[in-house]
Parts: sequence; C-alpha cells; structure tokens
Amino acid sequence: MSTTGLPAGSPARGLYDAVLLDRDGTLVEDVPYNGDPEKVRPLPGAREALDRLRAAGLRLAVVTNQSGLARGLFTEAQMRAVHTRIEELLGPFDHWAICPHDDGDRCACRKPAPGLVHEAARALGTTAARCVLVGDIGRDMTAALAAGATGVLVPTPVTRPEEVAAAPAVCANLPGAVDEILRRLDAVRPATPRRTGTVLVVRSDSAGDVLVTGPGIRAVAAGAQRVVLLCGPRGRAAADLLPGVDEIIEWPLPWIDGSPAPVDPDDMRALTGRLAAVRADEAVIFTSFHQSPLPLALLLRLAGVPRISAISDDYPGSLLDVRHRVPAGVPEPERALSLAAAAGFALPDHDEPALRVRLGPDREPPRGEYVVAHPGASVPARACPPRLWARIVAALAADGHRVLVTGGPDERDLTALVAAAGGVDLGGTTDLAGLARLLAGARCLVVGNTGPAHLAAAVGTPVVSLFAPTVPFGQWAPYRVPTVRLGDAAAPCRDTRATTCPVPGHPCLGGLDPGAVVAAVRTLAPG
Ligand SMILES: [Zn+2]
Repeated sequence: MSTTGLPAGSPARGLYDAVLLDRDGTLVEDVPYNGDPEKVRPLPGAREALDRLRAAGLRLAVVTNQSGLARGLFTEAQMRAVHTRIEELLGPFDHWAICPHDDGDRCACRKPAPGLVHEAARALGTTAARCVLVGDIGRDMTAALAAGATGVLVPTPVTRPEEVAAAPAVCANLPGAVDEILRRLDAVRPATPRRTGTVLVVRSDSAGDVLVTGPGIRAVAAGAQRVVLLCGPRGRAAADLLPGVDEIIEWPLPWIDGSPAPVDPDDMRALTGRLAAVRADEAVIFTSFHQSPLPLALLLRLAGVPRISAISDDYPGSLLDVRHRVPAGVPEPERALSLAAAAGFALPDHDEPALRVRLGPDREPPRGEYVVAHPGASVPARACPPRLWARIVAALAADGHRVLVTGGPDERDLTALVAAAGGVDLGGTTDLAGLARLLAGARCLVVGNTGPAHLAAAVGTPVVSLFAPTVPFGQWAPYRVPTVRLGDAAAPCRDTRATTCPVPGHPCLGGLDPGAVVAAVRTLAPG
C-alpha cells in the first residue's frame, strides 16, 4: 500500500477514484424489466466513453434498481445473462451494485436511497465522496447527493423537467458526461508543479466564499513556504479557521462589496503599502465569477508583486501572468483548485479535495444527539420565511429530534421565534468557530444556501439544503458531504442572482413541506 491507502501503482488521487453508472437509460436503452440478453442495446458512444474512463485509471461500477426481481418479472439467472451481454458490448465493470427490492420493501439500497452508492464505493475500495454517479433520472441524482457523491444527469426524453432543473450537473449524453468528468479531473492538475516562497492569496466576500476557497488555498500552501491571505471583514472569522494560512490581512475592497464604501485614495495607498510589505513572490487572486480580479491586480503590481494568477474573462493586459478561465457551473471549491493548478499548485495526495477547517480543542460540543437548524441567511432571497422555519422545527421535534437553533448576534429575534416551536435557542451564543464545533457534533444541519452550509461540509456533517435556485446548485451546493436538496429548483427566481426575492410569495422556498425536511433528516441521519 502507498501512503494514500491505495494500492501501489494507483494513479495520483485527484478528484475521483470511480464512476458509478446507472444501467437502464444511461448505459443501455431502457427496456422495462428486461430479462432477455437479445434486447440489450447500448446507448450511442457508450463503449468508447467508458473506455476513456478506464484509460484514465477510474474504476467503474453499475448501480441499478432491478425491482423486476422482487416482482418476479425475471429471474436472477436472466438478469445475469443480461449483464454478461452488457459487458460483452460495453467492456468489464469492476462491480455491479444491484437493488433487487421493490418500493414496498423500504430497503436502504433502492435509489433514491444512498445505499447502492455506498455499497459500490466500498466494493471499489473508496468512499462515495470520491465517486461520480451518472444517471438519467432524478432518483439517481438524489441517491448520489445523499451519499455525498458527485451527480451528473444525462437526461433522456422521459426525464422530467423538474429533475433536470434540480440536477447538480447536466450533460447531453454519456460521452458528454465523460468529457465533463475528465475535464474536471484535468483542471485541478498543474502542467508544471511549482515550489515557491511567499504567496499572497486573496479571497474577499463572506464566510462561505472563504470556506469554499479553502481547498485552493491548501493547494497553494502545499507548494509555498508561506501563505498570506487577504480577506474582507465578513470573511475574517472563516479565514481564521482555514488550514494552510500563515498570516491574515483583513482589508475591505470597495469593488467587491454589494454596498461598497467610496474609494478612498489614502486607504488604497495604505493597502498598497501593506501588500508591498508582504514581499510576496507571487499572488493568486480567487474570485466569484461576477467579480473582477483586475483592480486588485493593479494594486499588487504597484506593490511590486512579480507574478499574479487569477480567473479573468476581461482582457488583463499586463496585470496577470496567469490568466485562467473556467466554464460556468463548476463547484466553487473545484473552481478555486483549478486556478491554483493553473498557477502551478495541487493538493498533495493525502489531502482530500474537501472543505476543511481547524477546530480548536477548547470547547466540547453538547452531549447527546441533536440536529441543528440555522434559519438565517446572508442574503434574504435564500432564506425560508420565519413561520415556515417554526413549522420545520416543530415537525422535527415531533419526529423525536432535539433541535438546536443557531444564528448570529443580529438574528436573535429570528432564532427565538423559530426555537419557540420546539427547539433550543442558541441564537447569538456561538462565534463561527463555536458553530463549527457544534456542527461537528450534529447528526445533520438544516440550512439555506449560506455560510454555515459550507461550515457543515468542512466538518463532514450532512446537510438538508433548503436551496433557493437564484444561483446554480452545482456550483454552491455543500461540497462532498451527504446532502438532500429541497425547494423548487425551477422557480422563476432561478439563476437571477437576486438578493431579495423578485417573485411574490417567495415560491422557491415558501412552498416547502416541513414533512419533506423530516424525511430528508431521516435519509441523512437514519436510526
Ligand atoms: Zn434495495
């Protein structure tokens, strides 16, 4: 065994170890309850696409619901004959994960339950978080997310529009999905790995933005002697928790904030002086896709930084040495890792490409089992109405859960109202580090698309995500932790980036059923 826990000779770890594939409608034409090998018809390009995954060193498994066994519509021997035929046509699979049950069996393996995904990952010697699942319907994506795997939907004419809207990623067909998987793998591998002295990394904006940049910053730290992070006031508490950061400079950048202060020439001169004092060998500017790195790149040039890398669609002239570009919809942590790779930095093999924080040992989380509900959101359009939150907490309490309700000091009225429905009000009692410890001890977190969702991901706690579709789910979902997505993914606010909901009644989250939250918690924290 190598130090990575993989057999010697395994390819570098990268983002994924394995690709799991749904069978009917994804690999082969969907012939309902097929027990006849003669009726196996591979989908166009499937063989060549699978061979490209095999050539890249990825292991392959099939994950398939075959309720025809439970219903007696074909025998196990007939199913095996079908699978033999599939392997004749599509090449060998490293594992077949098959659910033989029907809905009435209430098993843990029938998709959308995550059991088959976990089984396949185990059989392949890896974890669900290091697997991609490619499937053609919503239950494939739900199973992938609930296991903490990456989901890629390849719709067919029978895939429902709401399933397409809710999917974390959508590709036109199986060869397209393989292109996307291989592109993501390649994007985080540097062409020429780099060792250097001091790197100034930059991530302005809020706590969540800083947390999702963590893997990219750790990649830089792996190739640098010293990492100095420039962040804004809203991201400072998160920056303090990031592994790999040696020093923090907190400074508001007026071109980043939603309600910015005017540009003060003296302040800009002071910032330039402070940046020059870092004596950085290079800088890597991490941004959201709507932000330009160029104003800061100019200040860094004035501060004498000789090499600057950033993602920029705008022409950078001589402001950037490495101008990186990223397609839309990539998960934010991978977007950051891909910029680090373009600059020459990769995570070491032992460092999983997941979010991470440093948890101090000074306070223990509460004893016993509990679920955390965090009703606040940094952006109003991504928050559930408070009265709906109260019904959610009441429903969770009625299902036997101890519910701890968290929020910042300015959210005490909200947490008091919500907790009164059956939870424990912890509003204003935790700083970000304290919240991280609380989440680390929780069975799961119920939260909107806001900072604590990423904090839960960073401590490995599953998330019930009440996700307003104003920004892409595939980009902002809790990264690589078991997740259930709730809310109307096709609501009219979709992709508007609105900060206050533009649609009367806030239908993306306002119509949410508290019973669905209870079911989601049961999925993510069973027993
Ligand atoms: Zn089953």
